[in-house]
Amino acid sequence: MIEIQPTGLAADLEALAGAPAAPKGPPCTVGAFLAHADEPTAAALRVALDTPSITGKSIADTLRKYGGAVTAYTVARHRRRGESNGCRCPR
Ligand SMILES: [Zn+2]
Repeated sequence: MIEIQPTGLAADLEALAGAPAAPKGPPCTVGAFLAHADEPTAAALRVALDTPSITGKSIADTLRKYGGAVTAYTVARHRRRGESNGCRCPR
């Protein structure tokens, strides 16, 4: 059985970052694209992001055709936003 010591755990987690964690970071490139796209484009992109059968690669390839500097990895990370391995964009 693992005994969790909250004080030590918090200190260890803070040490991982080397500094107190910032509550918010800048949006990822997908979030920035959403923020700057016109509403129909942003809405279509949100639908694509929320459709699991559409791969991150095909979304990234499409955005890149229109000048978005987006990788399939960034799309996957944006889809996990809010999770520990996702980006910091709001849900
Ligand atoms: Zn994001």
